[in-house]
Amino acid sequence: MIYQRSSALFAEAKKYIPGGVNSPVRAFKAVGGDPIFVKKAKGAYLYDEDGNKLIDYIASWGPLILGHAYDPVINAVVEKAKNGTSFGMPTEIETELAKLAISMVPNMDKIRFVNSGTEACMSAVRLARGYTGKDKIIKFAGCYHGHSDSFLIQAGSGAVTFGSPNSPGVTQGTAKDTLLAEYNDLDGVKELVKANKGELAAIIIEPIAGNMGCIIPTDIFMNGLREICTQEGILLIFDEVMTGFRLAKGGAQEVLNIKADIVTYGKVIGGGLPVGAFASRTEIMDYLAPDGPVYQAGTLSGNPLAMSAGLAMLTELNNNPEVFKSLADKTEYLHKGIAEVLTQKGIAHQINKYGSMISVHFTNEPVVDFASSAKGNNETFKKYFHGMLAKGIYLPPSAFESYFLNDAISYEDLDATINAVKEIDL
Ligand SMILES: *Cc1c(COP(=O)(O)O)cnc(C)c1O
Repeated sequence: MIYQRSSALFAEAKKYIPGGVNSPVRAFKAVGGDPIFVKKAKGAYLYDEDGNKLIDYIASWGPLILGHAYDPVINAVVEKAKNGTSFGMPTEIETELAKLAISMVPNMDKIRFVNSGTEACMSAVRLARGYTGKDKIIKFAGCYHGHSDSFLIQAGSGAVTFGSPNSPGVTQGTAKDTLLAEYNDLDGVKELVKANKGELAAIIIEPIAGNMGCIIPTDIFMNGLREICTQEGILLIFDEVMTGFRLAKGGAQEVLNIKADIVTYGKVIGGGLPVGAFASRTEIMDYLAPDGPVYQAGTLSGNPLAMSAGLAMLTELNNNPEVFKSLADKTEYLHKGIAEVLTQKGIAHQINKYGSMISVHFTNEPVVDFASSAKGNNETFKKYFHGMLAKGIYLPPSAFESYFLNDAISYEDLDATINAVKEIDL
C-alpha cells in the first residue's frame, strides 16, 4: 500500500498543528511512521487519502458501534441541521435522549450532557467533591479519565500516598488530591482508604479497563470496591465512557451487576458527535447548578446535532439489543482466530477480551493491571501493527489501546484479518 498523500498531508499539518494532530495517539508515535489521513468511511471500512481501503477496528475509538456513517444517525443529523445547529436554549431532544439513556441503564435517575468524556469525568469528580465535602480521590494506574488535571496522574510503581504529576502543567496542589492504586489490587485500595480516612470523595475506575489494553476486574476487586465505598461514604464513580452502551444497554453496571454512585458516558452516547454525560441518583444530581451549588455548564452542551446523533444511536441499540451478542460473538471469533495463528507461530501472547473490546499483548504473563500490560514486547507490537496495516487492517496504533469492534464488520472481514496475521512476519 502507498501512503504518499497521507504523508504529505501530515507534513503540512505539522506546520500548523502541534505534532500535526489534535489528539496525540493519532500521530503514530508509539509505532513509528506517518499516520493515515482518512477521506471517508462507511460501515466497517475506512477509505484514506491515497485510495486505500482499510478494515477498521477502532470505530473512532468506540463511538461507531454500528459502523461508520450509519444511515439512521447520518439522516438524523442532516435533518436536524436544517433547523439550525445551536441555540444555547433548551430543546426537546435533550429530554428525549436523557429519558432514553436513563431507561437503558440501571440505577440512574438524572443525567447531564456535556461535550466530551473528559468533561464528564471532570464534572463527576467535582460533583462528588461537592456532595461529600471531601477533596481526595483514588484513581487506578493505567485508567484514563480524560485529560483534566486531576486525572493526569500515572503510576510509578505501587500505590503511593501522594500522586506526582506525570504531565508538566499539572500542579502539585492538584496532584496531591489524586491517590493512585493498582487495578485489581483491593488490598492497596484498603490501605489508601485507611491512610486517608474521612478525606475521600470518590474512587473513579474504568469498570472494564480499555486504556491499558482491555483489562477485566476480578469479582473480588469490584465487589470489594463497592463495599468499601458504601462503608466509608465514598462515591464510586464508574467511568463508562468506553463501556457505556457498548458492553450492554446498561454498560458495565449491568454486566458486572454492580451499582455505581455516579456514571460517566461518552463515545457511543454521542453516535460519533461530541457528547459526554454523567448520571446519578436524584439526591446527588440535585447538587448541580442551577438546583444546587456545584457549578457546571457548557455553551454547546446538549447541542441539537449531537443529541440527534446520540438519540438515533441509542434508539437503534435499544430496539436491537441482540447487537451486543452479535458483537461479542464476532470478537470471540477474532480472539480464537488470532490466538490460534500466534500460537502456531510460537509468538508469546495474551489476548484480553470483554464483549466487543479486545487487546493483543505480546507477553507470556497474564495482563491484569498497568504493570503487566507494560511488559508487552513493543517491538513485536510495532511489527504486528505495521504488518497488519500493510494488509489493509487498521488496528489501534498503541499496545495500550483496546480494539473496538463495530457490527458492520462481517465474518469475511474477520477471516481476512486472521489471514493477515498468518501472513505477516512477527
Ligand atoms: C475516551 C475516554 C475518556 C475521554 O473521553 P474524551 O471524549 O476523549 O474526552 C474518558 N474515559 C475513558 C474510559 C475513555 O475511554
